[in-house]
This record gives sequence, structure tokens and C-alpha cells, in this order.
Amino acid sequence: MDYLVRGFELLAAGPICDTCLGRRFAKLGKGLTNAERGRAIRILWAMENGTEPAEPDRCWVCDGVLTRAVELARRALELVRDYEFETFLFGVHLSPYHEAVEAFLKRRFPSPWAEPLQRDINRALGRAFERLLAAEGRNATVDFRHPHVRFTVDLWKGGIEVHIAPAYFYGRYRKLVRGIPQTHWPCRECRGRGCARCNYTGKMYPTSVEELILPAFLEACGGEGGHLHGAGREDVDARMLGRGRPFVVEVERPRRRRVDLAAITERINREAEGKVEVLDLRPAPPDLVRRVKDLRARKRYRALVAFSSPVEGEALQRALRGLVGEIRQRTPIRVRHRRADLVRVRRVYEANGKLLSPTEAEVEFLCDGGLYVKELVSGDEGGTHPSLSELLGVEARVTELDVLEVLDDL
Ligand SMILES: [Zn+2]
Ligand SMILES: [Zn+2]
Repeated sequence: MDYLVRGFELLAAGPICDTCLGRRFAKLGKGLTNAERGRAIRILWAMENGTEPAEPDRCWVCDGVLTRAVELARRALELVRDYEFETFLFGVHLSPYHEAVEAFLKRRFPSPWAEPLQRDINRALGRAFERLLAAEGRNATVDFRHPHVRFTVDLWKGGIEVHIAPAYFYGRYRKLVRGIPQTHWPCRECRGRGCARCNYTGKMYPTSVEELILPAFLEACGGEGGHLHGAGREDVDARMLGRGRPFVVEVERPRRRRVDLAAITERINREAEGKVEVLDLRPAPPDLVRRVKDLRARKRYRALVAFSSPVEGEALQRALRGLVGEIRQRTPIRVRHRRADLVRVRRVYEANGKLLSPTEAEVEFLCDGGLYVKELVSGDEGGTHPSLSELLGVEARVTELDVLEVLDDL
């Protein structure tokens, strides 16, 4: 009965509440609250000493913070009044007083069964918060990993900070016209300030996939900003066809999380006027952003290719067969200023095509994600090997490129 001796020592040390007393023995027994554990020890102590087992109205350990939980929870709720959420979490910064008490307890009243004070405060705040919500007919549960709202209570300064987690939505986009970048691209000349080159828009291109998709989400969610995270990106001058490219939209500080995705789809597709289309919208877990960004899916491309001199049909077929297999590709010259310069090995699985004229062909490739198709055709001054140009012995360049399909399993 070692713990009883320790419990009695604590009771003799000064006024302590049931919860703070019981917390020193939190790992004893199952299905008990710390208040119940503390109460049990206090009753035995009263029997031992012939006194009344009354809980004192103050406590030198928590200094009354546990009884202030309801008031703190009420303030927390006011902070998120305008926000829709289904999950929450409280975190606590102890005051220097509480930290000193915790250290003192550990030294003078050591217990292998103890729990930290934070845990009881977090629990008390969480329970009070749930009860306040229930009184309004609302419902939310604690989520330790990805809470929609997270409160940090500073017991020293008395402040409460709230972090509203972004809302995430998965979808796929089709880009039906050329000349649209995936995301907003600041003007190269003025870096976004506005100049004659960009017609004072600050942008290289009048719009982007992101600018065509994001506003409908921001408005529906009442968000304060957001991003479109694409699973890779096609060139500005390439179309994105088939079932489209996967993306995740992230909406910052959303006021609403349950939104009508059918209405958002309809609005985007109407307002993007045949430039961009979205499909398969659904709510997404936060970790899908990483998975979408890291996606290395195979892709099917169609390209129109121009040759510097006439090519025979037979030679084209031989060259295309020669492209199937491993391709060693150095980072293309055109992206070397923003990507690490290294040689990657990527695979071409299928290469088919036909001549449209002696100096023009239409070709289709099925290849690994991350393979640059324009360079697969041109050779990129020897950076890509083998290449269509190298195998044909004439200069070749892509004049039109379409992504026909992104073959992922998202
Ligand atoms: Zn206490
Ligand atoms: Zn400019």
C-alpha cells in the first residue's frame, strides 16, 4: 500500500483538490477519473484520522486552474463562433508557477503512477468545451492528429490562440486550351508590380488553372486564401486531356467545410468557359497534399513533331521502336535554372506514330512520370539519349503537345 502512504503525505502537505491528488496515481486502476482516485484516498485518510473527507476550496498544485476550465472553454468557443468544425484539440502552456510545482512534486513526492498536470487541464478544457457545444445542439470530438480547430491556452498570460486548419479537396482538372499555366506566374519583367510588357497585370499569362479553380472554393468555404497543389504540371502550351490531372485544393481558415461540391464543379466549369474543367471533386485528408505532390504516375502523350528535312515512314517506325526502353535524360536546358542539373533514367513503354507529311508526324508516347517529352523528341543538344532526333538523324521538335492521360491510382 505504498501509494496510500504517499497519498497521505501529499494530503498532509497542504490543501489539494481531488483531481490533483488522484493524478499522482493516475496509472492505478481502470475506468477511473483522477478525481475519483483522489476522493478514495481522501476518504481513507479521513477514516484514519477521524476527520471529514471534504475537498478544500483551493489547491496549491493547480491553483484553481481546473475550476476555471469552463470559463476558458467559453472564451475558446467565442473565438471559433464563425467557423464550422467537427474536431478540436486543446493544448496548454503552463505558467512558471505550475512548472515549479510540477518539478517540486517530482522531487518531494515522487510517484511512478503520476501524469503531468497538462493532461488534466487539457481534459477539463475538452470536456467543458464539449458540454458548451452540446448545450447549443452542436457536436465535435477531440482529434489529436488533424483537428479542425486547435486552441493553445497560455495559463501565464491568460491568452488563448486558435489555429484553424485548412480544408482540403481532391479533384482532377482538364485543360482544354493551350497557353494557361497551372499557377499564377508573375511577370518576368516587373516581377508582379505591373509594367508595359504585362499590360500592368503583373502576370505572364492572363489566367491560370489555379485562378480558374480556386475562387469557387474560397467563396463556398468562406476561406481567406488558398493553393492548388497539382500532381506535377504540364507545360503552359500543352493541353491536359483524358480524365485530367489530380490536384488538391487547400483553403486557408475556412468558415465552412461541408460545401456543395456539385455546385462548385458546375460553377467552375461554367465560368472557365471551355478553358478548364474539373471532375471527381471530393473532400480530402491533409496528407493527400504530400501524396499528390510526390505522385510519379505514368503518362500518355500525343505530340505533333516537325522535322528539319523529309523523313521516310519506315525510318520513323524504326526510330519510334528504338525509343522504347530506358532513356537517360539530363535536366533540360530550359528548366536547368530552377531544377537541379542531373541525369535521370526514365522509361518509354510505348511509342507509336505516323507521318502527316514528309516533315511532320503525329506521335504518341506512354512513359514514366518526370520524363520530358519535348526533349525526348529534340534530344536537347545531346542531353536526352536516345531521342527521336538522334535516331532519325534529323532535327525534330514538338510543335504541339497534349497529355492524353495521367495513369495514377488516386
Ligand atoms: Zn488541484
Ligand atoms: Zn510586368
